[in-house]
Amino acid sequence: MTGPEPAGGEPAGPRLLRGGPIATDVRAAVAADVAAFRDEHGFAPALAVVIVGRDAPSTVYLHKILDGCRTVGIVDRLVELSEDAGPARVAAAIAGLNADPGVAGIIVQMPLPPSIPLRTVIDVLDPAKDIDGIHPLNAGLLALGYEGFLPATAHAAVEILKRSGIPLEGRRAVVVGRSNIVGKPAALLLLREHATVTICHSRTVDLARHLREADIVIVAIGRPGFITGGMLRPGAVVVDVGINVRDGRIVGDVDFASAASVVSAIAPVPGGVGPLTNAILLTHLMRAARNQADGRVAVGSRPLAPHRSLESLS
Ligand code: NDP
Repeated sequence: MTGPEPAGGEPAGPRLLRGGPIATDVRAAVAADVAAFRDEHGFAPALAVVIVGRDAPSTVYLHKILDGCRTVGIVDRLVELSEDAGPARVAAAIAGLNADPGVAGIIVQMPLPPSIPLRTVIDVLDPAKDIDGIHPLNAGLLALGYEGFLPATAHAAVEILKRSGIPLEGRRAVVVGRSNIVGKPAALLLLREHATVTICHSRTVDLARHLREADIVIVAIGRPGFITGGMLRPGAVVVDVGINVRDGRIVGDVDFASAASVVSAIAPVPGGVGPLTNAILLTHLMRAARNQADGRVAVGSRPLAPHRSLESLS
């Protein structure tokens, strides 16, 4: 990733919440877990990535996930389908991975080509292998406060706060953005940490009024530099999730220059949430692998396989 280095070295600047060092620690723990798993079970678990069409915007990101697997000993499996593969072929590929006991987790390229409805994936993907938390069962578990698989980006956004020692309990938090993969799950995770959470979106009236009351702000809107320092409360802690390209550089949704003079800490772009997301995903893969190996979930037989945590509901 390219982009300007935020002015973190300046004495008066905010604390920079960097994802890279945290990701290094997480990866080291995952590598040790993979080695232990291999000793216990005689094989290393695999993560499968399904890509439909060669030019999908997320292809580079997905290949990075596969690279990350190799560095910790997880087996990487790439399933590439041509752009004109119909829903039936995509569904069959996912069903095959569901049934493969070596594959612990499955990630499907998002967004899919217009010819493949999201439903094609949701109807087939085994929730026990849904390590990026796109299945409604996992979303529902999160909403109810049970352990399912979380969307990795939202998980990373909150994890960077927790691992940086930022107190969340009782704090006023504003999440800007309400997508299913970032904003909503991030808000629910902050709620789980006992923050008092407000979700803002494109129809929010007077966004700055909400932001000025927030101790913690997570921004995921996809608008370069939209949130400026003047909208933020002095001393706030900000996590910028946005990834935008402006003038050939990667920039976040927060205008770093103006925010830096106001906030006490910020997870910047680049260098904040992004580097942590893939490492977090690997922890999800290992949890899936252990759930499956220990027989805590039945996988591969039907779309809505019973989930370990669901059993505790009865
Ligand atoms: P979506 O486009 O799915 O959602 C954007 C959200 O932002 C919507 O809820 C929208 O509101 C809200 N929004 C848009 N404009 C405004 C505005 N002016 N004021 C307030 N809210 C606004 O995006 P994603 O959630 O998928 O992604 C958000 C950002 O995070 C993007 O920059 C993306 O690239 C980045 N991202 C980063 C990842 C990482 O690993 N770091 C991974 C995934 C995404 P409404 O619902 O009303 O339309």
